[in-house]
Amino acid sequence: THVDNPYAGATGYVNSDWASKASAEPGGSAVANVSTGVWLDRIAAIAGTSSAKGLAAHLDAALTQDAANGSAPLTIQFVIYNLPNRDCSALASNGELKIAQNGLNRYKTEYIDPIAAILSQSKYSALRIVTIIEIDSLPNLITNTNVAACAEAQSSGAYVQGVQYALNKLHAITNVYTYIDAAHHGWLGWDTNFGPSAQLFASTARGATAGVASVDGFITNTANYSALTEPYFTINTSVNGQSVRQSHWVDWNFYVDELTYAQAFRNRLISEGFSSNIGMLIDTSRNGWGGSARPSGPSTSTDVNTFVDQSRVDRRIHAGNWCNQSGAGLGERPRANPATGLDAYVWIKPPGESDGSSSEIPNNEGKGFDRMCDPTYTGNERNGNSMSGALANAPISGAWFSAQFRQLLQNANPPV
Ligand code: BGC
Repeated sequence: THVDNPYAGATGYVNSDWASKASAEPGGSAVANVSTGVWLDRIAAIAGTSSAKGLAAHLDAALTQDAANGSAPLTIQFVIYNLPNRDCSALASNGELKIAQNGLNRYKTEYIDPIAAILSQSKYSALRIVTIIEIDSLPNLITNTNVAACAEAQSSGAYVQGVQYALNKLHAITNVYTYIDAAHHGWLGWDTNFGPSAQLFASTARGATAGVASVDGFITNTANYSALTEPYFTINTSVNGQSVRQSHWVDWNFYVDELTYAQAFRNRLISEGFSSNIGMLIDTSRNGWGGSARPSGPSTSTDVNTFVDQSRVDRRIHAGNWCNQSGAGLGERPRANPATGLDAYVWIKPPGESDGSSSEIPNNEGKGFDRMCDPTYTGNERNGNSMSGALANAPISGAWFSAQFRQLLQNANPPV
């Protein structure tokens, strides 16, 4: 069966690979039983390695957890993340496939087909299998085609065709649910990006065999740090006659946080033709922003910049900063139906896994070194030429970053 919200009434799969790393950290066992996303971030991740379970092993473990659970169904989340020219506007999560080297065909035959073959096995049919489809891909076609790898992703059609192929194979399996990445408010929250992105998502889905019906929903804030809610101001707040939209931090964006963005984006997607049954997910794994630096009330300043900077719980230097952000904390624990239009708060980025290395580290995963992960970097036009705000001494993306996990735990909000 295919329910409207795969999270409703369900228990979340606990990935023991992540849980054992989390529980080995001081205090980490308090969150080690939280359900986190399983990233299929390269072809080899399907079979698994000596240190990480493969797809079938995760599903078998999910069956065991499901059986131990009583009658509640079990939801397991996989991140489909291996498009050719992956992460085209950044370097830290570049992948193994390249468009110029037959990457789209390899994506289909060596990655999506084997995944679909495993997910469709009848022994897994009682599981609710959520797929998070290709983070940072389609949004890059809207905002970052000035980067050569993104221009190629667009002109070749590889991102759109790759996502359509994934939708076709995954939607065809009744107990699989598809959620497409919708970036975050600090990326698409301006009208010039918001509408064109919704249109691209709609035209992409229409090109899939089942059309817009192949999409169950969208996810925002995946692996990002944007606050769920700014409790001390809204987009309509004015200070001394000046809208917060004029502040450096908000920078004319139409949203100040993820919940308002996700709800508005859902409405826009429905007006572009998606079903009114679509649901949103928000990755709350690392957007808690608790700890001693969290403001406890609105600023009394009459200067709009000072007001926003003192009032905001998102303590980043700039909302375009995305790598291993200093001061971040664990966010809302995953739960279903948390707000209107939302299917769930989820932890897709496993807390404690790095976003990218702070300096160049040779590796065989295709991961590059992005200076946004270097704490000494002074930025570029995508982060207002600001400091990166990244923690020092980080390993390559996906690798365990103990110091980050400890800070996330310490700054959790709600507290752990
Ligand atoms: C990395 C992946 C990793 C994922 C989850 C991404 O940034 O590129 O390799 O699996 O994060 O930690």
